[in-house]
Amino acid sequence: MTRHQRRGSNQPYVSDPVSTLLNTPLPADRNPSGMKERIAVRNPISAAGPAEDRLCNNLLRALRTADYALLAPFLSFKEAGAGERLYAPGDDVDVVYLPCGSALASYVLTNEDGREVEVSLVGREGAIGGVVSFGHLPAYCGMLVKFGGAFLALRTKDLETAKAKSPSLTYLFARYADCLMAQLFQSIACNASHSIEQRSAKWLLAAMDRTGGEVVPMTHEQLAAMLGVGRSYTSRVIHSFKARGLVETRRGSVVVLDQDALHARSCACNDAVRDHFDVVLRGVYPHSE
Ligand SMILES: [Zn+2]
Repeated sequence: MTRHQRRGSNQPYVSDPVSTLLNTPLPADRNPSGMKERIAVRNPISAAGPAEDRLCNNLLRALRTADYALLAPFLSFKEAGAGERLYAPGDDVDVVYLPCGSALASYVLTNEDGREVEVSLVGREGAIGGVVSFGHLPAYCGMLVKFGGAFLALRTKDLETAKAKSPSLTYLFARYADCLMAQLFQSIACNASHSIEQRSAKWLLAAMDRTGGEVVPMTHEQLAAMLGVGRSYTSRVIHSFKARGLVETRRGSVVVLDQDALHARSCACNDAVRDHFDVVLRGVYPHSE
């Protein structure tokens, strides 16, 4: 049994008629650029972006060809670096950002003391901004780039226009909203009940899922900020992981040496979210193995 098969009941809803609205079966998340073979629509995305990344957002990969054609004319590339703020709380959410490849963004809330606490990560399995709120509403959370890279940008009004033309496109984004809600529920439970060590291991594994490699570009300070704890706590955890041969640190990054052992130290929250994705949006959640 792999770590992605732990819950036993995650058979896809193959009899669910909504599943027929997706391009099924979706391939395992191994070759993000494989979409080029499956979608023949000419893509008018700016040539300024890296061509190999243009279709490596898994949500876009899951669209039916006709639905992708409705969005493609309005997609453009944005390169964003780690730490770049996509939205501050209260901003008008007028653009949806879809992370490509290993790009990663996060929703963050700011406490009264100014500390920012991570709420949820969004990688190439999803989109950030205007997906749940239908756009043009003020952002409740801040939205930050965690791992820099390419993002596809789509104005919310163009997404809404396309949704109005296609029930299947609406269903797909509704399904993604359900998965995002599951992530948020799990995040609440995780913060309330799991140790800093478990959460640190979970986050490193989730980051590996997105980067597809063992190098996670992150400092102790960044991990502490993500977990909403002091740096000394995460330094102790990383030191413990290093002593057990699970990770090593390099300047500005953590290198995972033993993924299985790290998984054994993690809570099961990442697996639970992945399992839900695998049922609701099969093939969309990134897998690192
Ligand atoms: Zn947890």
